[in-house]
Amino acid sequence: MKKHNFFAGPAILPQSVLEQASQAALSFGDMGLSILEISHRSPEFTAVLEEARALAKELLGFGDDYETLFLQGGASSQFFMVPMNLLDKDETACYVDTGNWSNKAIKEVKHFGNIDVIASSKDAGYTYIPKDYEIPSNAKYLHLTSNNTIYGTQFHAFPDTNVPIVCDMSSDIFSRPIPTEKFGMIYAGAQKNMGPAGTTLAIIRKDLLGKVNREIPTMLNYNTHIGKKSAFNTPPVFPIYVSLLTMRWVKEQGGVAAMELYNEEKGALLYDEIDRNPLFVGTSKKEDRSLMNVPFVMEKGYENLETTFLDVCKNNGIMGVKGYRTVGGFRASIYNAMSKESIQTLVDLMKDFADKNA
Ligand SMILES: *Cc1c(COP(=O)(O)O)cnc(C)c1O
Repeated sequence: MKKHNFFAGPAILPQSVLEQASQAALSFGDMGLSILEISHRSPEFTAVLEEARALAKELLGFGDDYETLFLQGGASSQFFMVPMNLLDKDETACYVDTGNWSNKAIKEVKHFGNIDVIASSKDAGYTYIPKDYEIPSNAKYLHLTSNNTIYGTQFHAFPDTNVPIVCDMSSDIFSRPIPTEKFGMIYAGAQKNMGPAGTTLAIIRKDLLGKVNREIPTMLNYNTHIGKKSAFNTPPVFPIYVSLLTMRWVKEQGGVAAMELYNEEKGALLYDEIDRNPLFVGTSKKEDRSLMNVPFVMEKGYENLETTFLDVCKNNGIMGVKGYRTVGGFRASIYNAMSKESIQTLVDLMKDFADKNA
């Protein structure tokens, strides 16, 4: 039986993508060879890379002043590559601290320049997205984490500023349209909403590059990869191919606008049940709730039922709903590929569990 996959990452991919990926691992197109055993400079793979680079920009609506790269080292490497490439020693970058991932990004900046953490929701356990803060107009860039995978909060609007926004979109890439004109750069590890672990999508406005006065090691310089169309060295061929399959799937669904509508429906289904159910309570502020990661806990007084509910989930094929260790309780990750039917299965279990235990 195919189970319901609520894991946070690596995470659910569309079934049709997994099938096509499996086929390509045996024989790619009509080549009679696996995609895993052909040259990354073959015309067949070059076509994959070109389509993937173009489709990423097309889906989100980025123009020709931006370049797409498929990098390695995870989204975590972008935490240092961003300031290394964009921030000079005497310049200042602004960061908004909305949880673990922003924190890890913040930690790397001091090696390259000055940092100004202009807002944080740490005071309330990262349960909300800060809104009223000043963005100094001389900041080199403003770094945000659009969706907080662990705390289940999401920016539903991006600040109005002339400072280019650099955004970690690892856990909500391609889940909705974004105001492209606000972004100097976005990046996303593939393994939440796009493909297998092993590649990181980066879309960068070209005019921001080449402005710092430091020596940047070849492999860590965005311009190296831009100059070689993301094939300076051997790129992660399989993660890129599977990411391309997912992007084609997003396009077939009607693009990111259609994904957003579906994600809103799915989110409403689950959040409505959390709000209605006497046993469960959501942990993030309503207006900032994430449509990708839904954390919730047992209502006060019912904490002893937590392991029982996890067992019920497991026995019904609901996988990956145990909460992150610092938040506790449960977290249902409901990325693009998650079906409404799977969420309905979880909702029905929650209802049934409350009927028996509340
Ligand atoms: C998972 C995640 C990361 C880390 O990604 P890696 O590819 O493992 O380095 C960074 N940011 C966010 C928002 C994430 O969800």
